Amino acid sequence: MHIEKYSFRDKPTNIDEEGNRKWIYAKQPHGRLYTLRTVVGWGLLIFLVMMPFITVNGYPLILLDIPDRRFIIFGAILWAQDTFILSLLMLSFVLFIVLFTVTFGRVWCGWACPQTIFLEMVFRRIEFWIEGDYKQRRRLDTTNWNFEKIWKKLAKHSLFILIALMMTNVFLMWFIGSEKWIRLIREPISEHKVGFTAMLAVSGIFYWIYSWFREQVCTMVCPYGRMQGVLLDSKSIVVSYDYKRGEPRGANEGGDCIDCRRCLAVCPTGIDIRNGTQFECIHCTSCIDECNDVMKRTGRVPGLIRYSSALGIEEKHESIWNIRNVSYTSVLIVLLGFFAYSFVSRPVIETSILRTPGLLFQENNDGTISNLYNIKIVNKSHETHNLEIKLLSHDGRIEMAGKNIILYDQELFQSTFILFIPAEQINSENMKVEFGIFEDNKLLETFNTTFIYR
Ligand code: SF4
Ligand code: SF4
Repeated sequence: MHIEKYSFRDKPTNIDEEGNRKWIYAKQPHGRLYTLRTVVGWGLLIFLVMMPFITVNGYPLILLDIPDRRFIIFGAILWAQDTFILSLLMLSFVLFIVLFTVTFGRVWCGWACPQTIFLEMVFRRIEFWIEGDYKQRRRLDTTNWNFEKIWKKLAKHSLFILIALMMTNVFLMWFIGSEKWIRLIREPISEHKVGFTAMLAVSGIFYWIYSWFREQVCTMVCPYGRMQGVLLDSKSIVVSYDYKRGEPRGANEGGDCIDCRRCLAVCPTGIDIRNGTQFECIHCTSCIDECNDVMKRTGRVPGLIRYSSALGIEEKHESIWNIRNVSYTSVLIVLLGFFAYSFVSRPVIETSILRTPGLLFQENNDGTISNLYNIKIVNKSHETHNLEIKLLSHDGRIEMAGKNIILYDQELFQSTFILFIPAEQINSENMKVEFGIFEDNKLLETFNTTFIYR
């Protein structure tokens, strides 16, 4: 296959000759794919908002509880001790995104990325609704301040601020849960000055992104967007212009492209897809809808701009499978299988015992030496466990600080205990000791740590 290389521009489309930002007045999209994207986008938005209120086994469907170092996924708690399982999950997710990109280009960006969904389905729609389509918006921005401009800008930015505040609170619920969030907003602001300031700051960032920074997140900041150059190849399915059909462009030039530039007008990143795949293309498919409408009106076959690969356009090769994405899929299946196995076979309880930092040993009147320990036990099941801790390696005794070890549904138990060992059994300054965690005299788990005497 011969692909001609040429240079058509040397700067992003939203930067002018002097390096200043060029505001993009994108035309409002219409069409079948835009309708489908609206359904998908609003489905995901509803999931985003409702998710903290959906519970499984009494727990939120998903909770990213970073302060308590636990993640709840579909009612199951992954603790800090499950880092390996979480890493597998994240690795599988990254590979899933890579595989999808290799095969389907930036489908994620156009259809599922929160940045695109909020910008295209919420903020831009408010803008279309209040300020009108691209020509009216351009005119409004270039006219002097008058009553119409003042009320439209005031209404738009007030709504933007309101939505930015709502977004911050929805995201907050993903991290602290809906119940804690409801308790929080009922309490006086004076009791949460730092949290309230942080919430306002994050809302300010959201407002700034969606009112001004906009498509620059995708074209300049997002690392995923910048990786397209190495992820895509000639077989990747991307939004493509069929230059074989379209050229020579022009009203009566013989090609199907009548050079109406409507695909360019509708593009939210301001590119001309007829120049080929470009890093700014977020696969929003608005140009496909727009061009299909032009094709329909001019009595031509739709699909001049469509989902296809460079090879598909060049050689009519439409299969989406190749060695690279088959290999990625195989690795992904293995990883997911490994994740599922690790998840279902993880121990029911997991113990961590560490000597209390900064404390030395104690010599006691009864001839024993004692060390103080911190104990944490995580119950990863929904059952209640009544546990007992025993010293396995030596003939010593354990004194728990007060409470019995009872763990309810997916609970974390934390306490301290003192371990007494007769001095004659101590054979080194830093001795290894082994504990056993029992339930009904059945050994569930062992844990090794150190005992000091120096
Ligand atoms: S919308 Fe279609 S016909 Fe019009 S310029 Fe773009 S590719 Fe050509
Ligand atoms: S080129 Fe088409 S698919 Fe890509 S961002 Fe522009 S309108 Fe969306």
